[in-house]
Amino acid sequence: MQKFDVVIVGGGVVGCAIARELSRYKIKVALVEKEVELGTGTSKANTGLIHSGVNVDSSTIKGRLSLEANPIFDRLTSQLNIPFKRNGSLVVAQSREDRQALLHSLEEAKANGIREVKWLEREELIQKEPAINPDALGAIYAPSGGIICPFEFTLALGQNAHSNGVEFFLGTQVQKLLVEKGRVAGVETDKGIIWSSFVVNAAGELADEIGYEIKNEGITIKSRRGQYLVYDREYPVRVNHTLFPRPTQVSKGIIVTPTVHGNLMVGPNAEEVPGKNALETTEAGIKEVIEGARKLVPKIDTSAVIRMFSGLRAVADSDFIISPAQKTGGLVLAVGIQSPGLTAAPKIGELVTELLGDMGLELNAKTDFQEERLSLKNLGEMNWDGRASLVEKDGDYGQVICRCEGITRGEIRDAILSPLGAVTIDGIKRRTRAASGRCQSGFCGPRLVELLQEFAGISPLEASLRGAGTQILKYRSKELLLKAGEEIADL
Ligand SMILES: Cc1cc2nc3c(=O)[nH]c(=O)nc-3n(C[C@H](O)[C@H](O)[C@H](O)COP(=O)(O)OP(=O)(O)OC[C@H]3O[C@@H](n4cnc5c(N)ncnc54)[C@H](O)[C@@H]3O)c2cc1C
Repeated sequence: MQKFDVVIVGGGVVGCAIARELSRYKIKVALVEKEVELGTGTSKANTGLIHSGVNVDSSTIKGRLSLEANPIFDRLTSQLNIPFKRNGSLVVAQSREDRQALLHSLEEAKANGIREVKWLEREELIQKEPAINPDALGAIYAPSGGIICPFEFTLALGQNAHSNGVEFFLGTQVQKLLVEKGRVAGVETDKGIIWSSFVVNAAGELADEIGYEIKNEGITIKSRRGQYLVYDREYPVRVNHTLFPRPTQVSKGIIVTPTVHGNLMVGPNAEEVPGKNALETTEAGIKEVIEGARKLVPKIDTSAVIRMFSGLRAVADSDFIISPAQKTGGLVLAVGIQSPGLTAAPKIGELVTELLGDMGLELNAKTDFQEERLSLKNLGEMNWDGRASLVEKDGDYGQVICRCEGITRGEIRDAILSPLGAVTIDGIKRRTRAASGRCQSGFCGPRLVELLQEFAGISPLEASLRGAGTQILKYRSKELLLKAGEEIADL
């Protein structure tokens, strides 16, 4: 019977960052994720910002960890081989009252050591960001603010942990904790028991549903939804920086930002929703987002929106909860990780590792830990000569499957065959950008279904958008005709 030192529940950015950090040591680690792909919870549906730390309270865990994490992203993203851009953030004053409050925030930001943070008066602001509302009364400028693809970040952390020995149980749902004499002994899943000396709960929005022990800690998680609009890459209204309004009590407000892949994105609003999984977008929510975005950039309209989506903040407290459980030995909580959890994730990984060490887990460093993650080929980043020589060696890189984004059969094949490879259409999309362009898979969708069959052996009737219950095809057309024939014959 296999026994692990640590089982991590949840394969979002937090679980994957913890897994990568633990993979530096000579211990046996497993990560259990209920979905068939990593990063399909909140970690795929957020603004993708690496926050500068302006307007964070450094006395909170979330404030401290995100301030510590921001500077490490240049090195980390180069190790993980993923795109990252320090495009800089602007927190814009839209009234005299805002200006007063933001000048105060600027002093706090300086005291928190945020690099090169400064105030821009209106003229400087318009020069820096020509699309900005000309009525703006200045802004805090923080060059260290950045943008990242949240899904690629999560996946890269997971793949790097995997190549350093962490075992992944995907499509496996933890049903309860196994507790013996007041201490965890593992987890019971829908696929059987996984024994372990320590368990880390990093299950995001669902972290309070894993069993009695979590409720016993007095933890309840509420969902706060945020809705977004994403624009076509050719949309002429553009911004270079991430534009924030003055934050509210509960959120950083409705933001206008470029994504790291060059789309304009606006959102999120902040709305309490009853129950979990309330991921729909609503007319009222989208209206609120557009109105908020127009206050910052008046020219924004809805003419080139290619996608709407929403994400759910897991709110347990006003701060993150990262601590050993009080009432169950061997259990560590990394829950209520709302914003800026994406930014803080690498430091959450370090903190959880430290806590496990304090709880008695022996942490002897490996000498062969691989910090670098090999990335897949990305033809969009290559020059024409590089592409031509690649195509000469391997014709799959010459066959374009997604016309909007120019993604080839070779890139999609690699995404499916790589470690922890894609097994769904969304999985291919998030790894390669196929299906993320203007037509939103209208053209390449059927080809992606075929490629999942060819390289992953997934039959077209099983191929899904994002796992169980989202299958794309219902019948083979002849079966449908036969069935219709039978029904007619029965009449
Ligand atoms: C609207 C919005 C905007 C945001 N913007 C930013 C931003 O710009 N910058 C930033 O730093 N942060 C941002 N955040 C916060 C950030 O997205 C989150 O802090 C982070 O993604 C949380 O990651 P997680 O791993 O805790 O949760 P998740 O990504 O939700 O991962 C939890 C995982 O656990 C799995 N799971 C649940 N139950 C079980 C079970 N029983 N068994 C097995 N697996 C299970 C789920 O399937 C899921 O994959 C934003 C959040 C939202 C909602």
